[in-house]
Order: sequence, then structure tokens, then C-alpha cells
Amino acid sequence: MIDTSPIAAIATAPGRGGIGVVRASGKSLAALAAVLFPGQELKARHAHYVPFTQADGTVIDEGLALWFKAPHSYTGEDVLELQGHGGPVVLQMLLTRVLEAGAELGLRLAEPGEFTRRAYLNDKLDLAQAEAVADLIDASTEAAAKSASQSLSGAFSRTIHDLVEQVINLRMLVEATLDFPEEEIDFLEKSNARGQLSGIVEQLERVFAQASQGALLREGLNVVLVGQPNVGKSSLLNALAGNDVAIVTPIAGTTRDKVTETIQIEGIPLNIIDTAGIRALTDEVDVVERIGIERTWGEVGKADVILHLLDADQGPTRADDAIVAAFPDGVPVIRVWNKIDLSGHKPAVDPAADATHIYLSAHEKIGIDLLRQELLRIAGWQQTGESLYLARERHLIALRNARKHLDVAGQHAAQNDQSLDLFAEELRLAQTQLSSITGEFTPDDLLGVIFSRFCIGK
Ligand code: GDP
Ligand code: ZN
Repeated sequence: MIDTSPIAAIATAPGRGGIGVVRASGKSLAALAAVLFPGQELKARHAHYVPFTQADGTVIDEGLALWFKAPHSYTGEDVLELQGHGGPVVLQMLLTRVLEAGAELGLRLAEPGEFTRRAYLNDKLDLAQAEAVADLIDASTEAAAKSASQSLSGAFSRTIHDLVEQVINLRMLVEATLDFPEEEIDFLEKSNARGQLSGIVEQLERVFAQASQGALLREGLNVVLVGQPNVGKSSLLNALAGNDVAIVTPIAGTTRDKVTETIQIEGIPLNIIDTAGIRALTDEVDVVERIGIERTWGEVGKADVILHLLDADQGPTRADDAIVAAFPDGVPVIRVWNKIDLSGHKPAVDPAADATHIYLSAHEKIGIDLLRQELLRIAGWQQTGESLYLARERHLIALRNARKHLDVAGQHAAQNDQSLDLFAEELRLAQTQLSSITGEFTPDDLLGVIFSRFCIGK
């Protein structure tokens, strides 16, 4: 059962702005409008300039009332939008008034993501599109916003639908043959089932590439920056960012606390954690310091890449050797030799076994692009020129699972005993995985998780 009870919330971001919006959706909204604007007929999709008043007639604000008649609205239900001035107090007063006016109609405050959830339940959006709404709102770079709106427009969903349809067609073919066992033997040849299957796999791979590149735009790369005081960590951050976000100072150990900076390279967010002189845990470390150090090493373990910065002129210190020995396995390391203007090294990349070594000067901005390219390589970024879908981990997992089932299907198809029923079953499983992306077969608890991550009013 779809809950159609009327809901309301402030739809614009908290804080102050030129305008702010209170949005209501659900049944009985015409009655709500009649209470709020007595004697005024709201025409659908027209802007009405009206006073917003308290029950006793005192004016809270003046602004626009917009009326959207179901199903021609964001949620697919009747929607009333009140645009007033974007101050937190005035909007709260307006919301309180709306809730009070609708109390008898059962109007209540919306839950996080409830408007978008209703849009999904009323088929205004599929699940991938609903997620794209949140991703567009949360996008931290222009490239991320672009691919979110690509997904929101339905381009990603259409590609998935197309795949699902092809899988269904192949399934129908196979299942029809299952009823006529004497024809099974020829089936795979006659119908070019193997050819169809590899066509589907090829297309799936293309979608996966577009989606995983898009996921990169969404998630970014977690980079941990380690190195002794004064080696040039802040300078390197600045050089990478191309502006002066980090504090650079010649005094050793200035960057005391953990600093997280987000910079972008070709639209990919890099979340950089400057670990400010991380130390190896030794017996000399006191208890308080131990906690800080352990926490920092925890960050290092979760990183996608470790940037270990050294002074090319002075070489590694004993502290560096201790840190290197403590690096977690499995996290790629880029060893950056800074200050080549002093050491006389040429800017270079040296992909050695222990780590990729890069020689550069943060201060003179020499060789910075070598590091950028290496970071992009580790991130798995490929410039394909194709449009990207701002996919989520959930989508990637479903695509990967679908791929696995198609591979197993292919193995069954290759067998001489021609286990057609197993072939058909794997196709069915692949289809279920693909359909979960757009939400055709998505359990309710997953819906709860997805929509609860929205904020109220969305
Ligand atoms: P941090 O303590 O590791 O963050 O180091 P900073 O970025 O604050 O730099 C420490 C000092 O080294 C500053 O005086 C910088 O100007 C200097 N420095 C950083 N990079 C270079 C470089 O490539 N060449 C030279 N000559 N000096 C640098
Ligand atoms: Zn610093």
C-alpha cells in the first residue's frame, strides 16, 4: 500500500537565501489550500502571488503559491509549493502554519527522502533516477553533477532496460525450447544463442565502464599524505589543488591536526588527508600520543593510495624508514621526492617494485602533472569521451553479479550436454540483478535504506 497521507517540509537548504520553499504533497491538499488561501482558487501550474497568514490573519510573509494537480507533479500526487523569503525563522513559521492548517486533514512532517520516495512509488522516477536526485544535490564537482543529471534524465536506466529486454528475449527463446526437448540439441546453433549472449555481455561491459567511471566522480579517491615535518606536504597540496587552500609555513610541524582537503583533478574529487608527521608506534610513545598515532594509521589503512613525501635533497630520514616498514599491505604507495630544484634531479616517474617514485618540486611547480597522471591512473580513470553515469556502489555490484551469471550461462551453453535449463536459470538471475538497479525487483528494506539517506524535504 502506498501511503498517500499529506506530508509537508521545508524543501530548500537550511540557512538564508533569496527564496525558500515549503512543499506539501498527498491527498486532501485542495482542502489545505482552501484553509490557507480562503476564497482563492489556485490554478494548476500557475504562480499566485499571495499573503501567507497565520490563523488570526497576521501576515507571516508574502510569496508565490504553486499548485500541481496529480499526476502532473514531482511526486505524482497533488503538490502545493509555497515560495517565501529564504530565512530559517520565517520558513519555520510558514511550515508550522501549514502543518497547523492541515492538522485535521492528517498533514504531517515528511520523512527524509519521502517526496522522492513517493515519486518512485508513483512511477515518476525509477530507483536509479531517484538516487540520482540525491547525487545531483550532493555533487561536489561539475563533472559529478553532469553525470548525475545524465542518470536523472533516465539515460542510465534506459541502458539497463535495454539490457534487461535482451536478456528476457533470450530467456523466452530458451524456455520455449525447453518444452520441446528433442529440439534442444540444435537450439544453440539455430538461434545463435551464444552470439546473442556475447552481445549482451559486451554491452554490459560498456555500461559497467561508464558506471564505474561515474562512480569515481561520486566517491573520489582517498589519498593519505605522509611525510616528515617541513618536507613540503602543504606545498604539494597547494600545487595539486592549484590554489592556496593549505597553510604553508617554513616552521617545522605547523600542520598539527589532521587536515582533510578535497581537491579535484579532471573532475575527480581527491579527498586528501594530511597526517601531519605520522610516526611509527614505538615503546617511547606515551599513551596520549599513542591514541593519535593509532587513529592516523587507521586512516592510512583505509586509503586508496598513500602519498609518501620525502626530501630529494636530504634523502629519507630514520623516521621515514620506520614509517615505510609500518605501511599496510595492499595500499598502493607513491613515493614523491620533493625539492628537486635543490637536489638537481630531473622531474621523472620511476615505477619501481616497492612504489612508484616521482621526482618533482612542489614549490617550483615542476613535475606536478606527473603526479596528477599517476593519481588518475591509480584511480582507474580513463578518458573515454563517453557520457558517464554517476553510479553507486550498489549499481556496480549488481552489474558485476549480472556479469557473473551471464558468464556461467555461457559455460552451460558451451557444454556438450547442453544444460539448457541451467542456461535459462542463469539468465533469470542476471535479469534479477539488472532489474534491481532500476528498482523493479527491489526489496522494501533496501528502499528504506536508500531513501533514508536523503534529507528532509527532498
Ligand atoms: P610540510 O611541513 O611538510 O607541510 O612542509 P611545507 O609545505 O610547509 O614546506 C616547508 C618548507 O619547504 C617551506 O619553506 C616551503 O617553501 C619549502 N618547500 C616546499 N617545497 C619545496 C620545493 O619544491 N623546493 C624548495 N626549495 N622548497 C620547498
Ligand atoms: Zn604543512
